[in-house]
Amino acid sequence: MNTQLRTILPSLLLLAACTEPGSGLDSDTTSESGDTAAETQEFTACDDEFTITDANPMYAWTPNAITLESHELSPGVFVIHDANANTYAPAGIPLATSGGFVIGDDGVLLVETMVNRQLFCQVIDLVREQTDKPVLYAINTSFHGDHSFGNAYLPDEVQVVQHERTADHIAAHFDEDIAFMENGFGADQGIAEATPVAADVRVTDDGWSVDLGGVVVEAQYHGFGQTHGDLFVHVPSAKVLWTGNPLIAEAPALPWLLEGQAQAVSATLAAVKASVPADTTIIPGHSHPLGLADFDFSIDYLDTLVDEVQTAVDAGLTVEETVAAVSMEPFQGYALWDWIHSGVNVPTTHAELGG
Ligand SMILES: [Zn+2]
Repeated sequence: MNTQLRTILPSLLLLAACTEPGSGLDSDTTSESGDTAAETQEFTACDDEFTITDANPMYAWTPNAITLESHELSPGVFVIHDANANTYAPAGIPLATSGGFVIGDDGVLLVETMVNRQLFCQVIDLVREQTDKPVLYAINTSFHGDHSFGNAYLPDEVQVVQHERTADHIAAHFDEDIAFMENGFGADQGIAEATPVAADVRVTDDGWSVDLGGVVVEAQYHGFGQTHGDLFVHVPSAKVLWTGNPLIAEAPALPWLLEGQAQAVSATLAAVKASVPADTTIIPGHSHPLGLADFDFSIDYLDTLVDEVQTAVDAGLTVEETVAAVSMEPFQGYALWDWIHSGVNVPTTHAELGG
């Protein structure tokens, strides 16, 4: 479908919902609530049944073993997260991607589309438990497949919203991201079924917002968060903010510095924290809703990491010696500590600081 048609289709759907009977549309399904539009929107990717499997302990988390649940945070504003979040997150056990949806008078906006068809279809089921209104938009907070591969299963008329650098990254590196996701989450989870989808809305650093009818959703850029194109999704009227991966979860989860830049990530998290009211509900990339103070563990971890690695570099330590020296015991507890802290965060920071 061409871009122009994608742009006008949601308006056509809304128009159809308001059309008088006898116009050629199925008048039986026309109602003031816009039911016609919903019934025109089919998620054919979700026609087949799926089964929740056992988790494979070799994976960080097992996509097909995940059950997602949703909770209403404010009228029409829902978080979606891993059903194990309340027990796993405080114990430092990694969780599936979190997301959510916002329902306006005109339709629905999704935050994240998940890593595979099964999790995408769970999201759609959770939306359909609440409303028959059409899904109009899907925002991905980054290019990472666990936040965006489900775009492949969206009907064409849904507008995909991404930072422009995220869109460019997906266009150039999709196969690499499939390989990375299969490496972390399994080659037997349907991940490679996904195909790249071009963004319909390319968000610049100045951000983007949409009025869904009675509720405004903003996609904000606050600087380098984990990638060059991280979006933070804010519903000001509800005081709800989705962070994506820059804030993975509460303590003891750590930032995954897959592209380094510990200092920039710390500054971005501090800027995000300062940008919203103190009683804002924070939905991290991979956990249940948190408060503003839950930014502090990640920020303190990053600042301590930079200080201690800089000391090691100044003392002439090799990367192996730095990993051994920068053990940061007060911050330990994350199940992926060895992989993320010792394997990723210390080595990348060591290289950046001149080691
Ligand atoms: Zn993620």
